[in-house]
Amino acid sequence: MAAPPSSSLVLSFEDARRIVGEHASRLSAGKHQNVALLHSAGRVLAEPVVADRDIPPFPRSTRDGYAVRAADLAKLPAQLTVAGEIKAGPQHGQPPRTLNRGEAFSIMTGAPVPQGADAIVMIEYTSLQNDRVEIRKGVEPGENIVIQGAEAPRGRLLLSPGTRLNESSIALAASVGKSRLQVFCRPCVAVLATGDEIVEVDANLAPTQIRNSNSYSLAAQIQQNGGEAVLLPIAPDEPHQLRQFIERGLQSDLLLMTGGVSMGRYDLVEQVLGEMRAEFFFTGAKIQPGRPVVFGRVPCGAGAPSTSSGQALAREGASPQMSNKYFFGLPGNPVSTMVTFELFARPVIEALAGISPRPLAFLHARLKTEIRVKTGLKRFLPAILSGQFENSQVELVPWQGSGDIAARSRSNCLIVIPSDREHISAGEWIAVMLR
Ligand code: AMP
Ligand code: MG
Repeated sequence: MAAPPSSSLVLSFEDARRIVGEHASRLSAGKHQNVALLHSAGRVLAEPVVADRDIPPFPRSTRDGYAVRAADLAKLPAQLTVAGEIKAGPQHGQPPRTLNRGEAFSIMTGAPVPQGADAIVMIEYTSLQNDRVEIRKGVEPGENIVIQGAEAPRGRLLLSPGTRLNESSIALAASVGKSRLQVFCRPCVAVLATGDEIVEVDANLAPTQIRNSNSYSLAAQIQQNGGEAVLLPIAPDEPHQLRQFIERGLQSDLLLMTGGVSMGRYDLVEQVLGEMRAEFFFTGAKIQPGRPVVFGRVPCGAGAPSTSSGQALAREGASPQMSNKYFFGLPGNPVSTMVTFELFARPVIEALAGISPRPLAFLHARLKTEIRVKTGLKRFLPAILSGQFENSQVELVPWQGSGDIAARSRSNCLIVIPSDREHISAGEWIAVMLR
């Protein structure tokens, strides 16, 4: 039987996060599928998207007005002969002829600039009389024109595999004619809630029983981060059954467990994983909430069923017969579960989903009310960000600790307190993580 992990595996937040990042960087996404552009929001691109032609495909007017030669406006007001009109879209009949000296073409936003013209004068600075236009304001050569290919020449890579598709990347794909896209299949992430006191949400419950909320918060977070949640039944605090559930969970691409990772007599998750020859990278992080968080991997033999999404397993050191499955043991307290997911599990799910790695994003706001804490832990505490523009302010939400989901729901961000700070004064700038 493998020895249970030692307490020396309690790392600083930064070390724990770095280790997760190193392992995540060795993972790859699995199969692809083809989806309609309309249903691609939030999916992860699995193919490069390139410009199928110059963007813009012709020199494009960015204003309604007159296409002119800037040199013709040296003396103002200038009188030019209107030689025709160019609107956006296919030009009927002949393409507009070259603009000669002393001439202007009436032109619409988005229309192709004719040969010979080098600037567009906005209609606001002009008055039309019969076929003559009077122009009251000069222009620099190039003004109000985007030259052909200026945004991207034909063949340029516009979107790389690993891009999470949002409105701008979807617009870009549409603009180069992609009505369907190859995307990565979502990784399956098993969620295993543990604890004798935990019952299903709709159970008739005794006063000492606690409804399972962690499986649902985790499912939401998994989906938001590109995965597919597979909820397992609640596992009791009993080693034999716990092991059976863990083995089921290891059939997915990643296993997230909640509860059973603290120091209590019935916190059996690490013991059972140790018996399964798990390798532990850390069994705690110096953070609040979420100190008992566990990260590791378990060897899965040739007999182990393949993953439901065909996902790549962790390959490091693995023979064709033997590969590893990663797991997280997240603390059971619901706010700890949510925070440790965000800090540690998210990068692994994103890697399995094919999403390019990205750092944690922080913003800064002024602290409204002073904070006093003990040093030694990096804290991620529920807070409310208010005000706007240069008056953003943030303050802690009063809470009853890491079980207080109601306080977390009232909060809209987490204040990040460095582990060496015991007093932060009102008015100081402080790091904040949104959500
Ligand atoms: P544990 O980490 O197992 O010691 O649990 C810590 C606290 O979190 C206890 O109060 C548990 O009842 C609670 N808890 C554990 N699992 C869940 C869950 N799935 N849903 C809601 N609360 C939980
Ligand atoms: Mg428990």
